[in-house]
Amino acid sequence: MSTNGPTITPDVAAHVLFHYGREGGYQAGSFTTALLTAMGTADPTNLARLAAAFPGYVAAVTFIQYDPDGVSYLQDIAAGRCTRCKNADGPNTPTGLCEACARPMPLDGVA
Ligand SMILES: [Zn+2]
Repeated sequence: MSTNGPTITPDVAAHVLFHYGREGGYQAGSFTTALLTAMGTADPTNLARLAAAFPGYVAAVTFIQYDPDGVSYLQDIAAGRCTRCKNADGPNTPTGLCEACARPMPLDGVA
């Protein structure tokens, strides 16, 4: 159970949902809107360059474009729901899980 993906914040999820015309999002500012347009048209090389600077946005754009569950995943993040159990009580970890779902993962290394 590793968390090697970039963090997608609720704001990022909402901006990407809006940009792709899905429910649960809201419009980003003009720069981020232009950035999302650039990401949507980027070839893999340029997308990798953008990911170095904006890892959360590229991760969210990749989810919504290529993952069949990407829309609901981003909607959960945007709404503050746990992406695993859908509990909305929060608080959630940066990886989108509630404390109960995140608990099995050790917080510090095992000696
Ligand atoms: Zn949970």
